[in-house]
Amino acid sequence: MWDEALDRAGAWSRHWLSSVADRPVGVPIDAAAMRAGIDDRLPTTGVPAGQVLDELGAALEPGLVASGGPRYFGFVTGGALPVALGADWMVSAADQDAATFVMSPAAAVVEEIAGRWVLDLLGLPDDAAVGFVTGAQMASVACVAAARRALVGAQGWDVERDGLAGAPVPTVLVGEHAHATMIQALRLLGFGSARAVRVAVDDQGRMRADRFREALAAIAGPVLVCAQAGQVNTGVSDPFDEIADALEQREHAWLHVDGAFGLWAAAAPTRRALVAGVERADSWAVDAHKWLNVPYDAAMAIVRDRGALTGALTTSAAYLPLGDLDPATRTPENSRRARAVPVYAALRALGREGVAELVERCCALARQAADELAGQGLDILNDVVLNQVLVRPDGVDVAGIAAAVQRDGTCWIGTTVWEDRPALRFSVSNWSTTPADVTRATTRIGELVDALSSPASPGAP
Ligand SMILES: *Cc1c(COP(=O)(O)O)cnc(C)c1O
Repeated sequence: MWDEALDRAGAWSRHWLSSVADRPVGVPIDAAAMRAGIDDRLPTTGVPAGQVLDELGAALEPGLVASGGPRYFGFVTGGALPVALGADWMVSAADQDAATFVMSPAAAVVEEIAGRWVLDLLGLPDDAAVGFVTGAQMASVACVAAARRALVGAQGWDVERDGLAGAPVPTVLVGEHAHATMIQALRLLGFGSARAVRVAVDDQGRMRADRFREALAAIAGPVLVCAQAGQVNTGVSDPFDEIADALEQREHAWLHVDGAFGLWAAAAPTRRALVAGVERADSWAVDAHKWLNVPYDAAMAIVRDRGALTGALTTSAAYLPLGDLDPATRTPENSRRARAVPVYAALRALGREGVAELVERCCALARQAADELAGQGLDILNDVVLNQVLVRPDGVDVAGIAAAVQRDGTCWIGTTVWEDRPALRFSVSNWSTTPADVTRATTRIGELVDALSSPASPGAP
């Protein structure tokens, strides 16, 4: 009964994965062509499973980005470790609802273990609560919900029961370079994007400790500080020790850290100093689908005060009393896949040393990319301390270069804005990227920059 579907899916997956390192990385297809290639007529009578999967595989392929491959340097995008992909297949095969222990004792207990391992690797308090969510954005939503409960609750207000209208709402402090999804988490929880006080940053995008202290001094009452480990353009982290020192004098304060990718620096001994003091925070958001190279989607919401997280997120129904063993007490979702299982598999296959080595290797490859791109005459705009490289070609249109690189297909990089001007961003987050991949990418980028800047080139400005 299962063979037909699993055999076809397995064959297609092997075909895709065996080509992912060599195919053009981006796909120059527009929405109309994509739509034209997929059968959009809802059938009246069903189509056999094998035919559905074969046709789907063929129809999807022209629109699939090889973002799991070794030369995709766009955004901050991990691939999938083979062991994590295998575990993910098993999760789908078992089709467990990981909401509660009674629905899946296996999922609940693997989640406990994987959560403990993540805390250990990141150097966070071993009794913190860990919720397995879809991404760092939802991890921040879960953490901010815990912070809101704790801070508003300390003023004698039950925010879960009485809502935010009329509540003694804490003031929110964020760095000027906070990630858009951190702001989104604040919006979703009723804090409003414009009400957050923005703290000035240094030339790498790091919150300035002096400005932070000034902003804090101007605020009376409870504060929620949303700091960051790993600025998305430069990879730098906020000065956690100085922030935590300043907060020590405050009675009602919560320090949250958006560490989507950058928190993994804590797992690599030689990078750990970049996030010094991060363990002093109250909550942390960290992705597994970026640097840990687990398939989408997986992230962890980590909260020091277990009661704040479970108090904010536990639902109750007569038929479904929830307790500590139930994962749904720690996540905004109810029914969900057992996404801790691929995290467990990745961590067990890598081990403590493997995780550190993965982080180190990506950082070394980012350094190599920066050196090679500088050798091609491009300006490196950031101190390359982690896995992110910010680049600006001198005197050449950034959007034009990005489009040329994306069309070319050797590698994929995207654009960003840095100090009010466009720039290119090169992120190394994939387990399978080699030094040769980086050289192949930087060489091609250099050639395309040359072609666009040479006056003889038809495409030159
Ligand atoms: C990617 C990223 C996020 C959002 O993560 P998702 O997994 O896409 O929800 C948040 N913060 C930073 C710094 C990021 O790099």
